[in-house]
This record gives sequence, structure tokens and C-alpha cells, in this order.
Amino acid sequence: MAATYDDNNIFARILRNEIPNNTVLEDEHVLSFHDISPQRPVHALVIPKAAYADLTSFAETASDAEIVAFVRALGKVARATGVADDGYRIICNTGENGHQEVPHLHFHIVGGGSTGPMLRRQDS
Ligand code: 5GP
Repeated sequence: MAATYDDNNIFARILRNEIPNNTVLEDEHVLSFHDISPQRPVHALVIPKAAYADLTSFAETASDAEIVAFVRALGKVARATGVADDGYRIICNTGENGHQEVPHLHFHIVGGGSTGPMLRRQDS
């Protein structure tokens, strides 16, 4: 079952211009802005403008135009933030087990130096 969408999540409020953001890129389908609490020298977020709670609902129900625009935007943001040539990591936390905090689909683009190991092995 698709995740329900909370109209009052923080990114929905950014999209309605109720909360300011430091924009990297904006087009018809996509908004990208710098994370308020950057985990690396470059830490941008890329979100679709339409109401998708997570990657699963986006993959299952977004139009081809939205999906193309989103993936194109990832490359443009990597270029615009200066990480495309030296490399970067994209993270998409999804749902409870994925520790997704904001229930509006977002990809993190992090870089500007080594991003470190992908995951630490769990002890238990
Ligand atoms: P998640 O854990 O859901 O994958 O990531 C949510 C991200 O949103 C976090 O990295 C957090 O710092 C960022 N964030 C939360 N609230 C705001 C905000 O109001 N503005 C911006 N620019 N980023 C936010």
C-alpha cells in the first residue's frame, strides 16, 4: 500500500513558500535546496514538486516526465554544487527502517570530499 502523504510535512511547507530555502535548482517538476544541517561540505536535497511520500510511491505512480525531470535534476545539482567530477553519494532514506524523517520524497546529494564508507556493519 502506498504511504499516505502529510500535507504539513516540512518540505511541503517549503514548496508552498511558507518556509525559506537556499535553492540550488528549480524547474517545473523539481526543487533542489541545501540541507539545513549539512553532513558533508556539499549536502543538497532534491525533491519532486508533487506530493510523493517516498521513493516507492514515486516509482509506482509518477509520470514519465516527472521521473525524467527528477533524474536529470540529480545530474544538474551534482554539476551545480561542484561534486560531479570528483564524485559524490546519493542517499534516499525510505520509511521507518530507512530512517526517513521527512515524509516527502527526497534524495540527499553529499560530497565535497570523501563521503566515507557506505554503511557500518551492524554488531547485532
Ligand atoms: P531524512 O532523514 O528524512 O532522509 O532527511 C531529512 C533531511 O532534511 C535532513 O538531512 C534534515 O537536515 C533536512 N531538513 C529538515 N528540515 C529542513 C528544513 O527546514 N530545511 C532544509 N533545508 N532542510 C531540512
